[in-house]
Amino acid sequence: MATTATEHKLLIDGEWVETGEWLDVHSPYDADLVGRVAKAGVDEVRRAIDAAEHAMRKPLPAHERAGILDRVAELLEQRSEEAARTISGEAGKPMKAARVEAARAVSTFTMAAVEARKLAGDVVPMDASPAGVGKLALTLRLPVGVVAAISPFNFPLNLVAHKIAPALAAGCAVVLKPASQTPLSALFLATLEDEAGLPAGWLNVVCGSSGEIGDVLIEDERVRLISFTGSAAVGWRIRERAPRKRVNLELGNATPVIVAEDADLDDAAARLAANAFSFAGQSCISVQRIYVERTAYEPFLERFLPKVEALVLGDPADEDTDVGPLISSSDRDRVLAWIEEAKERGATVLTGGALEGDLLRPTVVADAPPDAKLSCEEVFGPLCTVAAYDSLDDALALANGTRFGLQAGVFTRDVRRALRVAQELEFGGVTVNEAPTFRADQMPYGGVKDSGNTREGPAYAVREMTDERVVVLQL
Ligand code: NAP
Repeated sequence: MATTATEHKLLIDGEWVETGEWLDVHSPYDADLVGRVAKAGVDEVRRAIDAAEHAMRKPLPAHERAGILDRVAELLEQRSEEAARTISGEAGKPMKAARVEAARAVSTFTMAAVEARKLAGDVVPMDASPAGVGKLALTLRLPVGVVAAISPFNFPLNLVAHKIAPALAAGCAVVLKPASQTPLSALFLATLEDEAGLPAGWLNVVCGSSGEIGDVLIEDERVRLISFTGSAAVGWRIRERAPRKRVNLELGNATPVIVAEDADLDDAAARLAANAFSFAGQSCISVQRIYVERTAYEPFLERFLPKVEALVLGDPADEDTDVGPLISSSDRDRVLAWIEEAKERGATVLTGGALEGDLLRPTVVADAPPDAKLSCEEVFGPLCTVAAYDSLDDALALANGTRFGLQAGVFTRDVRRALRVAQELEFGGVTVNEAPTFRADQMPYGGVKDSGNTREGPAYAVREMTDERVVVLQL
């Protein structure tokens, strides 16, 4: 059942399957071939859905599902260095960040095991109205059905974990389609599920061109829930194409942070410098827009810019590297074009803004107009903007001035100000005195507006992946 070092098969109905066609996976850093995966066509996707539907006809009891999830967590912990190297090789993620991702995936499985063990319904207080007197009612939480999971390139292990772990906890079989740029971490995880004793059909992994296999996965009626993480453009289009299914969307952001005059500026500068550039800004909650109260603006920059300039740019495999490549040269060129657009409209590059070899240096841009792409679209690159504000009302309006609403942050020592900001920012999560890039896997995580329509984190995803059925007993 094991895959070879460089060639990886699909997992369908418990079998590792070749298709005769391969998808090459290249390092975003030096374009080296890091692996090849069997390429699925429509037939393989249909077989994967058949297998998932068939598996669910024989439900696995909660203790077995929880046991498997716990075993995957153990195996992943034992092999976390291999997982980190796989992430780093295919995504170009610096090893420091790849190790954090691998550790988080362990915790995602551990928490999903807890959810599997405690999945339960409620007792309904039937005598709360005269109509219910003499009756007892309870609710059951039942798996929604086959889940199609579609994952992005930027957290190729933990965002796959955030789909398959809660689905298995909920009792749903999964057909997973990982991003074509980064399928190796997903297949590595599938080998661990296999080793942990997951029976055939409960997890199926199909890799391939979304243009060729996306429609069949989305439109097959046996798929009851689509769990999608990726760009807003693709996510909302999938939802339009599947109006009768549950389509859970985790999408992008243009993450703002407000730094008030009374903030601990040393701490804010350190946290924001680390979290605007980690994985070259390719996190959906990478710090992108920093608004600083005017009286603190220069002191903040004095602390912030040297920290940005000290970040080490280079090969993601090197232990010292903080910032590596973007996923593709076209993404790098897009970010450079957005910098030019902002400059033409009066913005100033305070540091970076140019290439060092093939890599884009960490870039800080001051005074980009609020409607420049850098200010309102998702940059997904090693770049943040800075601007001074005069009143908190102005700062809130600037921070909310985007179609996105995933996470945002505020730095202040004034608890009333912090709570006002937390209430008035239109985002799914607000961090206080922490960069909004912070996420722990027990948190509810998800957005409003164009950033999505659901919450992930095993406890919340399990709710989404189960249906509530009421059972009424006449006593
Ligand atoms: P993407 O281009 O939207 O792709 C995401 C996934 O969708 C990939 O597996 C892709 O497959 C697939 N896909 C694309 N077109 C499809 C179609 N027509 N039908 C079915 N599947 C389709 O996103 P990405 O560039 O990989 O990831 C970056 C984006 O993800 C950013 O916007 C980021 O903010 C967002 N993100 C959000 C969260 C969150 O939790 N909110 C977390 C991480 C990332 P192929 O690779 O084969 O095209």
